[in-house]
Amino acid sequence: MSKVIELIQAELGNSAVLLGDDVTARATSYWDSSPNQALAIIRPETTEQVSAVLKICHQHKQSVVFAGGLTGLVEGAVATNNDIMMSLEKMNQIETVDELDNTVVVQAGAILQQVQEDLAEKGYLFPVDLGARGSCTIGGNIATNAGGVNVLRYGMMRNQVLGLEAVLADGTIISSMNQMLKNNTGYDLKQLFIGSEGTLGVVTRAVLRLYPMPTNQQTVLFAVSSFEAVTKMMQVLRSELAGTLSAYEVMWNNYYRDVTAEGFHRAPLDRDYPYYVLAEAEGVDEASDAERFECMLSAALEEGTILDAVIAKSEADRQALWVVREEFDPVLPAYHYDISMPKRYMDGYVNKLKQQLSAWRDETVAYVFGHVADGNLHVFVTPFHNDIYHDEVDEIVYGCMEGLSGAVSAEHGIGKQKISWLASSRTENEINLMRQLKTMMDPENILNPGAVLEA
Ligand SMILES: Cc1cc2nc3c(=O)[nH]c(=O)nc-3n(C[C@H](O)[C@H](O)[C@H](O)COP(=O)(O)OP(=O)(O)OC[C@H]3O[C@@H](n4cnc5c(N)ncnc54)[C@H](O)[C@@H]3O)c2cc1C
Repeated sequence: MSKVIELIQAELGNSAVLLGDDVTARATSYWDSSPNQALAIIRPETTEQVSAVLKICHQHKQSVVFAGGLTGLVEGAVATNNDIMMSLEKMNQIETVDELDNTVVVQAGAILQQVQEDLAEKGYLFPVDLGARGSCTIGGNIATNAGGVNVLRYGMMRNQVLGLEAVLADGTIISSMNQMLKNNTGYDLKQLFIGSEGTLGVVTRAVLRLYPMPTNQQTVLFAVSSFEAVTKMMQVLRSELAGTLSAYEVMWNNYYRDVTAEGFHRAPLDRDYPYYVLAEAEGVDEASDAERFECMLSAALEEGTILDAVIAKSEADRQALWVVREEFDPVLPAYHYDISMPKRYMDGYVNKLKQQLSAWRDETVAYVFGHVADGNLHVFVTPFHNDIYHDEVDEIVYGCMEGLSGAVSAEHGIGKQKISWLASSRTENEINLMRQLKTMMDPENILNPGAVLEA
């Protein structure tokens, strides 16, 4: 057994350190069920224990990979057999809720869905919401600056974090647990840890913003004939719903058609329309909210902007609409992409992408769907041949973005998977500054080495 592991056992006790079969019994990630390769999995229970472990690792130049719910899509939390994995699964409590300031203090290992449900019981909405809610953690959401389906109204994870506590590579604890909306005292250090994918420190606790729970949601799935109509309806709903539009998701025809094929999800609308949009608004007066929503949709139907629509009349109806957008198993396995670009380029980009993919290999299919109001599209490319064609598909998907001022990652981050593409979305000076920060905060390069920036 390595000296580092013995030192950690002596500090935290044997039960905090999983070895051998206890490690390999766990999957590599949500996406890869092969046995976890980590040298050991360390499960601290306090920030002080996290600090003690990192101090040892720093002294011995031992690499550490942080694990939340392992749902990330860019292999950021995939450990090799040289890495120790640190999981915050035992730091999973909601500590306090402040009803006057509308804030909650949460430990980083808490599961997103658990946090949402506990707060909902107290009448609060925690608005970050994504398909992985049952497995992903608050720490992972912060480290990846998660987005999800309510970004349009509430912003990304970054917008929810008022303060946080993090531990640096050498074990220094940075307690920056600000609880106020306003605090302009010097550099906003929490931003260093939000979206930096565990490469600058590990987040252990956070102060998050809460919102009043809306009393009703108005949800519609509608079909349109052109991308122009998709964006036109977005503007109409945005302005007429006075900022209460919380989701506006687009699905290109072949995505909708294939996830509603026989044996998969029920198709709420005919399957032959060119584009489908799932839109949702939130409110506090059910009768008037529903009336306004229906009036707007009827007007759009009458003038022909939308071709057909189905409005959810119950929570079961709402779930049946969302499942079409969120549960994409029918089109898996696939090469996944999560890109962003100004909306004016989207339709042209998708057309060019589809053309180039089929010119490359006839049978290639691109499924496109996603958070269009946030400028974010998910692209799934099939058939999937593991790594055989990964580089070639990357070249086409990202190559078609050239000149569009877009980003190769809108939500999922860079991790280890997209590292060679970082420079296509960030300038050389930006990357140099990132590198300087990394060298300053983690001089031995022990935190998630090989993620975000090349070693
Ligand atoms: C079905 C599905 C749908 C998804 N939908 C969305 C979506 O709509 N929007 C979106 O943004 N993402 C989405 N994701 C991606 C993923 O769920 C998010 O990136 C999520 O925030 C990751 O959380 P996690 O706890 O699983 O982190 P992990 O996957 O365990 O880790 C992700 C990264 O964060 C680091 N990390 C984890 N915890 C900490 C910590 N406490 N401190 C520092 N670093 C840490 C890891 O080392 C790794 O680099 C989806 C994933 C799935 C499976």
